[in-house]
Amino acid sequence: MKACRNCKRIIEADEKCPACGSEEVSDRYSGLLVVIDAEKSEIAKIAEVHAPGRYAVKVK
Ligand SMILES: [Zn+2]
Repeated sequence: MKACRNCKRIIEADEKCPACGSEEVSDRYSGLLVVIDAEKSEIAKIAEVHAPGRYAVKVK
C-alpha cells in the first residue's frame, strides 16, 4: 500500500489518489489512522481529515 503525500490517504493501488487526485504517492509512510466518522472524531480534526478512510500519520 501507498500513501498520498498531499492528503495522506492510504491507497491500495499504485495509481493516483482517489480522494484529491494527486499523483504524489509514496510507499514510505508510518502510522495508520482509521477515520470512521470525520465529523465527530477528535483525531480527525487534529489530523485535518475531512472524510472517512485510512490515513498515514507521516508520509516521507
Ligand atoms: Zn490525496
